[in-house]
Amino acid sequence: MRVTIAHNNNKNTLEVAKKLKKLLQEKNVVFDAKYPDVVITVGGDGTLINAFHRYENQVDSIRFIGVHTGHLGFYTDWRSYDLDKMVDALLLRKPESAKYPLLEVDLITESGDKKRYLALNESAVKRVSHTLEANVYIDDQLFENFRGDGLCISTPTGSTAYSKSLGGAVIHPGLKALQMTEIASINNRVFRTLSAPIVIAPDQWITIVPNSDHFVMTIDGERLDVRNAKKIVFKISNHSIQFDRFGHHNFWNRVQNSFIGENDDNI
Ligand code: NAP
Repeated sequence: MRVTIAHNNNKNTLEVAKKLKKLLQEKNVVFDAKYPDVVITVGGDGTLINAFHRYENQVDSIRFIGVHTGHLGFYTDWRSYDLDKMVDALLLRKPESAKYPLLEVDLITESGDKKRYLALNESAVKRVSHTLEANVYIDDQLFENFRGDGLCISTPTGSTAYSKSLGGAVIHPGLKALQMTEIASINNRVFRTLSAPIVIAPDQWITIVPNSDHFVMTIDGERLDVRNAKKIVFKISNHSIQFDRFGHHNFWNRVQNSFIGENDDNI
């Protein structure tokens, strides 16, 4: 098993990453940052998102494990005081993973060139000043004529991030679905949107045809300035992200702990 550690540079994280490296070295684990089987991230969700993008071309053959050092930690299963347990689980257990959907984004230019992106959380199409005007299609059928700040298409694991702040539902990542949420839509006689988040099925796709010649597209918060786009197509990718299943927490417990607070009362 080839392992690599990806971490942020916070003081606490550096100490945890050093301790983790030592524990793995003691067990004679092979380190390989180029072609790892397992990527252990130490930090927050941002650290895991960065590591995902670093290895997105190998995503089908990699298992991710997140160690949490502060922050919210939606993607990070292990606490830093459980490093020994995590290393034992990694080395002694049969590998098992939980697979979650990813978002595939195809940006097609006026000249027909296509650039493909993969998102773990979401992709948003928006304008910083002036409104974004766009036609929104579901399965190539015109659904609505949007005018407003923008639109966000998120994965189930991304539903607790930006999408939630936009009023989207929290979606269990066991569901293969994509959610589109609006960012401040204008509704009048000319521009009429559903004004509610929608969730599409695994075999469906959303196409945004912008009427603005330049706008911003984000992929997991990373900004791209887009000009002369003909359309952007969003669908569930054939690839998925795999998390090591051992130590993987119950999704709804995590939602509760992160957004509501712990409650131990069971029925
Ligand atoms: P950032 O400021 O580094 O991160 C924003 C916050 O979102 C951080 O607290 C991060 O957790 C948390 N987060 C990331 N993925 C999450 C998930 N799947 N579920 C719950 N919380 C999550 O922002 P960035 O680097 O520009 O973008 C990273 C992500 O942040 C984006 O993909 C987007 O979803 C989210 N974001 C949200 C808003 C908003 O809600 N208004 C605005 C911008 C970006 P950690 O602290 O553990 O890293």
